[in-house]
Amino acid sequence: MDSNAQLLLGLFLGVAMAAGGYRKQSLSESGAIAAALVGAIIFGLGGWAWGVLLVAFFVGSSALSAYNPRHKAQVAAEKFDKGSRRDWGQVLANGGWATLLALLMWLSPAPWLFPALVGTLATVTADTWATELGTLSAQPPRLITTWQTVPPGTNGAISLLGTMASLVGALFIGTLAYPLVMLGGAPHLALNPLWLPLVGAVSGLTGSLADSLLGATVQQVYHCPRCDSETERALHHCGTATHYLRGWRWMDNDMVNFLASVVGSIVAAWLAVVLA
Ligand SMILES: [Zn+2]
Repeated sequence: MDSNAQLLLGLFLGVAMAAGGYRKQSLSESGAIAAALVGAIIFGLGGWAWGVLLVAFFVGSSALSAYNPRHKAQVAAEKFDKGSRRDWGQVLANGGWATLLALLMWLSPAPWLFPALVGTLATVTADTWATELGTLSAQPPRLITTWQTVPPGTNGAISLLGTMASLVGALFIGTLAYPLVMLGGAPHLALNPLWLPLVGAVSGLTGSLADSLLGATVQQVYHCPRCDSETERALHHCGTATHYLRGWRWMDNDMVNFLASVVGSIVAAWLAVVLA
């Protein structure tokens, strides 16, 4: 396809995806604008296979949150708390690194770039699935560092169910990458595509564990005086302004997700080079 036509198609698909997310209330206004740009660049500069993987992450995560009763309750409390809609920061935390990889693909295609995309999307998919499904765990989760039991939703908390959900989410992206390559969607790939499910599973799980580790150690935590509980938000969902408690001040939840997606990406690119 002519590259201008591909860019235009990318823009169209990016806007369509963002409009769908906005209408389904999974994206805020700023989130929809960011998603349109991310989608346009990934489709338009990375290529159609890149776009399909992005849509798989987006649709898979939106579908899971739509069926999660906890999430439904959050949406119902929307007037109170816009927390269940992804804003631009959350969109870039999940798709920002993939967007940079697509730009790199356009400037200078390399065999490790498609596996790197698989790694970043496997990680954000693993994280999202773990969050959506892990909160349904009957067993209380444990902190990844000290192994103490903590309330569900605590940063850095992991459970068996959440970890299994991570693995399945990561494997889903890696496995979907295989037919895309077979259909000619990644012409620069040097790796046997049969490795891609493994690359996706390992990189996504590693990225997801990095997310929990950062969440348990350096992520900023606030305290809500009204509920006497810890939260990652400057404004608690009860409407009360919270106080800084601990952690690095710039290391918010979005930054943790972004860095984890970079870790997953590096692991996948490294695996692709080693296995090729
Ligand atoms: Zn509160």
